[in-house]
Amino acid sequence: MLGAMQDFDLRVTHLIDHAAREHGGREIVTRWADGSETRTTWAGVRHDALKMTQALRRLGVQQGDRIATLAMNHSRHLVSWYGAVGVGGVLHTINPRLFDDQLEYIANHAEDQVLLYDRAFAPLVERMKPKWTTIRHYICYDDGQFEDWIGAEDGNTTWAWGDERDPCMLCYTSGTTGNPKGVIYEHRSTMLHAMTGLQPAIFDFDARSVMLPVVPMFHAASWGLPWSGAAAGIKFVFSAVNDPAVLCELMNREKVTHSAGVPTVWLATFQHMDATGTTLPTLRHAIIGGSAAPRFMLERLMKAGVNVAHAWGMTETSPIGTTGAKSWDWDDLTFEQQVDIKQMQGRVPFGVELRTVDLGDPSIVLPRDGKTSGALQVRGPWIIKRYFKAESDAAASPDQWFDTGDVAILHPDGTLQLTDRTKDVIKSGGEWISSVELENAAVGHPGVAEAAAIGIYHPKWDERPILVVVRKAGAEVTAQEIKDHLARHVAKWWLPDAIEFVDAIPHGATGKISKKDLRDQFRDYKLEDA
Ligand code: AMP
Repeated sequence: MLGAMQDFDLRVTHLIDHAAREHGGREIVTRWADGSETRTTWAGVRHDALKMTQALRRLGVQQGDRIATLAMNHSRHLVSWYGAVGVGGVLHTINPRLFDDQLEYIANHAEDQVLLYDRAFAPLVERMKPKWTTIRHYICYDDGQFEDWIGAEDGNTTWAWGDERDPCMLCYTSGTTGNPKGVIYEHRSTMLHAMTGLQPAIFDFDARSVMLPVVPMFHAASWGLPWSGAAAGIKFVFSAVNDPAVLCELMNREKVTHSAGVPTVWLATFQHMDATGTTLPTLRHAIIGGSAAPRFMLERLMKAGVNVAHAWGMTETSPIGTTGAKSWDWDDLTFEQQVDIKQMQGRVPFGVELRTVDLGDPSIVLPRDGKTSGALQVRGPWIIKRYFKAESDAAASPDQWFDTGDVAILHPDGTLQLTDRTKDVIKSGGEWISSVELENAAVGHPGVAEAAAIGIYHPKWDERPILVVVRKAGAEVTAQEIKDHLARHVAKWWLPDAIEFVDAIPHGATGKISKKDLRDQFRDYKLEDA
């Protein structure tokens, strides 16, 4: 016997229908790269998305076809998210910071049919056009081209319909080795993920929320914000440029209450605030993820009355995995204890399951004891099953546990504490040293702008850590001062054997430190006692 409730397939077009119907007048503001500004509404986004589905059909786009974007955050990009899925297509957001060979690989591997792009990326598009073999139509968002293209339609149409397990979006991860891998989200997984994003511990949205997402729409589905934002009917403020002066001005003028970005974004914002005396009085919820948020960052935001959701996730997890939810005894804790909790990566929402297994023997499931670190595995309805076009499942085991490549400690209450990447953890004398903990401790020194720890071959210990440091402008901090500072935070045998000062540390396409490039840079490095 089946139950007798209504059919309501979890298709993401329900989100935009809801936003337009229930929050139709709520504004979507865009500050464009040329400094101009436009305003539309959720109703306007839906109408334009319907027009885009007509325009795509006119180009011959079929259900399941991939429609790519190469664009910053703005309202036309938002329209395209819904237009692409509305025609039954698969939205493929391309990261413009990828290298040419990766850009060539992913667009051809995805078999993109249409590409929508910002004028700012026109040189990239011209350069790549001869190498992209499947893209038939190129449409620029600027100079009236996008408006003219959809302007020829009347919006009098309906969304394509289909199964809730149909694909709706494709994001590639820029792995450190090999070709990028595609993660193909489905309508159902995206809807469940979007609804989960509405929890207070995650995005904390209600109809009054005004969100300026700094996390790009081309990275990890912008943490699902364009979907969850529609479900909650929030006001979006987009900036097509990531200049901290522009972001702060927009946040204050539009009374932004929520923002989301990787730690480096907050660092740049703080520097601007310090230099100009700017404050962000309306901000009350900040989502920080993508890499570990340093302690001073959490302290500064929390002291300013901002609720921080320090989140962990990955492209393969749609990406919400955990966020820094408050514990039940939160109000009884001291400020220091609260920061201790927020410095960890938080707890799962309903739907996500975590476990750690032994780094050497994955058949051994480790205890949640707050001490033992191991390889982090995850499963749930919005976690990857199989990479796009892969022959076998991505999950390491038949019971769907997916290997994240992260190293973590799980605490008895389920709090996740990320300690490293499996490829970056440093093995010294048979024991593990967390490169992330060394880096976090190092950036707590006022003279350190950025730090990265890597393992260097040592004949006796196998590997020993060295710390590569970028000094803050004008700071004259010495290696000994950094060592003394670290000694107050980590075990003695964790202290780096050497500290090397550099002008810059290499970053990958998503703005994270590229340990692979750094290791290449230090390939011939010899330790003094080696
Ligand atoms: P991506 O798929 O590019 O978003 O990268 C996902 C990876 O980023 C994860 O597997 C982690 O290694 C790292 N990451 C994400 N969030 C955090 C966080 N809050 N703290 C530390 N590392 C993180």
